Amino acid sequence: MSAGDIILLGISSCLLGERVRYDGNHKRDDLILKQLGPRIHVMSICPEVGIGLGVPRPPIQLVSEGGAVRAVGVDDPSLDVTEQLTLFAQQLSPQLQAVSGFIFKSRSPSCGMHSTECYSANNDVSLGSGLLAAEIMRRNPRLPVTEEIRLYDPVARDNFMERVVAYHRRQHTGSG
Ligand code: SF4
Repeated sequence: MSAGDIILLGISSCLLGERVRYDGNHKRDDLILKQLGPRIHVMSICPEVGIGLGVPRPPIQLVSEGGAVRAVGVDDPSLDVTEQLTLFAQQLSPQLQAVSGFIFKSRSPSCGMHSTECYSANNDVSLGSGLLAAEIMRRNPRLPVTEEIRLYDPVARDNFMERVVAYHRRQHTGSG
């Protein structure tokens, strides 16, 4: 297998079994990992560890304030890591030029992709994207992205992998 045959995917670190969640646990997903196959190599990314929150750490959540979404502590709203998470995602940009897709952990205030609960001041709940996922999607609108829960559906999984392979081909040949 040559280097050009290898496809690099970004993936939320906890899905790989790394104990990086706020409670010291992981969310390893063998069903997904077994489906990836030998061509796929992964770039493991945990934004909350990346900004220095540590493990374990106080949980954070998304809140909407005047149209803006912020990531703040569940128990201590004065803990606001919005800028740090956004900056982390921006600084990741050069490394992400090498990936051909990204698998995000669903429902996370950092990694969720349209699946994360976001609370308004009057406690209304809507679904939004975690701050890392939102920034990656904003900066790379053509990058194939998904969440682990979507990959349980074989049709969605095949569709995602087809998009990844096509994106990889364009990266390496400029065509496809
Ligand atoms: S969901 Fe994202 S921020 Fe949370 S533990 Fe997993 S990789 Fe880290």
